[in-house]
Amino acid sequence: MAERRKRVRAADVMSQLGPLYGPVEWEPRYNPAEELVYTILSQHTSDINSERAFLNLMSTFGTLEKIADAPVEEIEVAIRSGGLSKQKSGRIKEVLNIVRADVGSFDLSFLGEMPLEEAKTWLKSLPGVGPKTAAIILCFSLGMPAMPVDTHIYRVSQRLRLIGPKVSADKAHDILEPMVSEDDVFAFHVYLIQHGRQVCKAQRPRCDDCALAWGCPSMGKVGNKRAKRRGRKSSSRV
Ligand code: SF4
Repeated sequence: MAERRKRVRAADVMSQLGPLYGPVEWEPRYNPAEELVYTILSQHTSDINSERAFLNLMSTFGTLEKIADAPVEEIEVAIRSGGLSKQKSGRIKEVLNIVRADVGSFDLSFLGEMPLEEAKTWLKSLPGVGPKTAAIILCFSLGMPAMPVDTHIYRVSQRLRLIGPKVSADKAHDILEPMVSEDDVFAFHVYLIQHGRQVCKAQRPRCDDCALAWGCPSMGKVGNKRAKRRGRKSSSRV
């Protein structure tokens, strides 16, 4: 009987990508309520645009309190560089006002004292907050072992079959997060993003250079064939 090929597991991601991408250090970015606003701004746009919009929003109003009280049209102008400013301005004002009404302030540090699932549930009760936004806030601003699944993590983990081909991005959070110990969740997240950006790219995965190729069921089978052909033609001209 033919021997079954070994498959990459989450532990292999840690042990093989860790030495490649190096140690990962967690540092808080914004406080949780600011991270919430930032995450709304980051939807459907680049990091550069959302960062610019967030900085402009904060420099225009100074505090979350003032943003919550501002006319939505003024918020819209301040975040215009982030794209979809009409929808996002309304959402930011709505969410901030719900937080203030529920909590009495914009201090969401109490989430860090809650069990992880409870903290996620609290955040997901806010309009427009799904598993990814909740995980971003808990992970990036509070250092909790929640793993946001972005487009790179979703693609790489599907190609590696850490998750099945029909698993949604929302569901992927629940499957991937428990695959590693709590201490490794953040590093696992970072390594898969790095691997997705540098090697397992959407259009042209570099399977020949991949440290996980030995156990990847998608090796040589994914990516955009036209892009690959273009790559071969242009390299043959060099
Ligand atoms: S072998 Fe190819 S498809 Fe599989 S993880 Fe590596 S780059 Fe991605």
